[in-house]
Amino acid sequence: MALNIVLLGPPGAGKGTQAERLAARLNVPRISTGDLLREAVALGTPLGSLVRAVMARGGLVSDDLMIEVVRERLERPDAAAGFVLDGFPRTVTQAKALEALVAGRGPLTVIEIRVPEQELARRLGARLVCGACGVNAAPEAAGEARCLRCGGELVQRADDNAEVVRERLQVFARDTQPLVEYYRSRSRHREVNGAGTPDDVFADLAEAVAEAGR
Ligand code: AMP
Repeated sequence: MALNIVLLGPPGAGKGTQAERLAARLNVPRISTGDLLREAVALGTPLGSLVRAVMARGGLVSDDLMIEVVRERLERPDAAAGFVLDGFPRTVTQAKALEALVAGRGPLTVIEIRVPEQELARRLGARLVCGACGVNAAPEAAGEARCLRCGGELVQRADDNAEVVRERLQVFARDTQPLVEYYRSRSRHREVNGAGTPDDVFADLAEAVAEAGR
């Protein structure tokens, strides 16, 4: 089975949840560039100060910076056997850079998670994350005030407010949709319907990954 996996899809498609499950199943790390950047902001690192404002308004961090972040992350030993990338690449430039970064490590499998746009805005508006550990609140946590993993308070992600969501969806359509077209023309690309329950989506996703590896 191919283990170099990219999950593509708009904000709210469920990439984070599915990447987490897929990475656990394949025993490779989930690499979420959004999480890496949020962590840098929370820790107040130099990277964090460079990206904070762009993230707050829902824009894209520069390709050069993102490519460097991913290059460093892929060099860590846990990524040697593969990875599930979530949130990268987001532009054609990043996709080309990724190809160079993984040259010699086996093929890249790209899975696109598709969800209708009204559903994305609804999900992002309703999404809660843990203010302490950052994990997305599981659907079974609906109605809970605390994170099931660490007990932290559940809050709305700063960039999930309606205005920033609108901007993020526009940025996806403008900058990331061309990347989807770029990958569609390549062989190891599969689409998964992301509109179902997390369990249904995961079943389709695991099947798509297995199929791509055959
Ligand atoms: P995410 O958690 O994937 O929705 O990412 C949150 C924010 O981090 C995005 O809205 C961007 O500001 C930034 N970001 C994450 N990944 C990338 C990327 N590959 N390229 C540019 N900006 C990114």
